[in-house]
Amino acid sequence: MWRRERGSVPGFVEQARQLTEARAAFGWLRAGSQTVQQQALRDFDQARRNYFAGSHRRPTWRRAGRHEGFRVVGAQAGRVEQVSGKWARVLVPKVGWVRLRVSRALPDARSYRITRDRVGRWHIAFAAVPDPVPAPSNGAVVGVDRGVTVSAALSTGELLNCPGLSESEQRRLVHLQRRLARAQRGSNRGKRVKAAIAKIHARAADRRKDWVEKTSTDLARRFDVIRVEDLRVAHMTRRPKPKPDPAKPGSYLANRRRAKAGLNRGILSNGWGLLVQRLEHKAAGRVEKINAAYTSQTCSRCGHCAPGNRDSQAFRCQSCGHSDHADVNAAVNIAAGRAVSARRDKPVRVSVKREPQLTTSA
Ligand SMILES: [Zn+2]
Repeated sequence: MWRRERGSVPGFVEQARQLTEARAAFGWLRAGSQTVQQQALRDFDQARRNYFAGSHRRPTWRRAGRHEGFRVVGAQAGRVEQVSGKWARVLVPKVGWVRLRVSRALPDARSYRITRDRVGRWHIAFAAVPDPVPAPSNGAVVGVDRGVTVSAALSTGELLNCPGLSESEQRRLVHLQRRLARAQRGSNRGKRVKAAIAKIHARAADRRKDWVEKTSTDLARRFDVIRVEDLRVAHMTRRPKPKPDPAKPGSYLANRRRAKAGLNRGILSNGWGLLVQRLEHKAAGRVEKINAAYTSQTCSRCGHCAPGNRDSQAFRCQSCGHSDHADVNAAVNIAAGRAVSARRDKPVRVSVKREPQLTTSA
């Protein structure tokens, strides 16, 4: 990276030229595939571009066990053969033929990436953009409200839950984390415990991903238009602002930071961002983002909006008496795409017997 005292930094082309030189000088570097090494430089170049464009954070060092993987492009990526219904094989440069279990039809791809996750499982991913799910053309519109106690509520009344870890798995995780805290750093025992923890986390992540994929495909197949709240997950998961105490300068009031941290975990582990992202891939052009302000306080039947309407998981309208599951009520509002205006804490309809109020300004 650029530093003031270092002068200009070599770009990808210059780095690739240096790589060729280095490969001529060092035997251990020559033992690896040039394509793979060049693609690592290409990845770094992309990371640097993203950093300067402001969309990503500063590139970090790759870590053993965490960022394991490489990319193969060009003619070399084309050497893939289907062996049987379930198995295929791929000629990995400098490695040889490697068998792979086919989880979906092999696409016509010009590059692939092989990765090893933290649990030690190897994956191969071919770069191809699949066709979006065709719309059912039935005119159906659905609203999806994403929450913490219920992962997703649909305006049809369905409540969907993203599976996480079971009670016993959570207990085991806590137990293992305690054991890791007591283990000596870098010891064999510590490594074993770490691997066991990684396995549990991977299991939770697998379940979450599986749920997101199945739910997004199901929604894309059943509905023409899918309306979701336009929440900025990144903003929501930020830690709360400190609240200065007006009575005592220099000290702070409770800002429910721990409570927010618990909520953040809920939001992230429910995979909100991922669900919308996958919906936008699968139902391209059919996902609409709706301003979510006040959808949880507004009655989906009469439009009355008041904070008192909502009592934790139950919704009961103070104006018309309509009652529903709180998240389903919000999902119906989202499905209607109702633009709920802020600062409306009174019913819109005013009794005809009431005298018109004089406006004090304007
Ligand atoms: Zn109502």
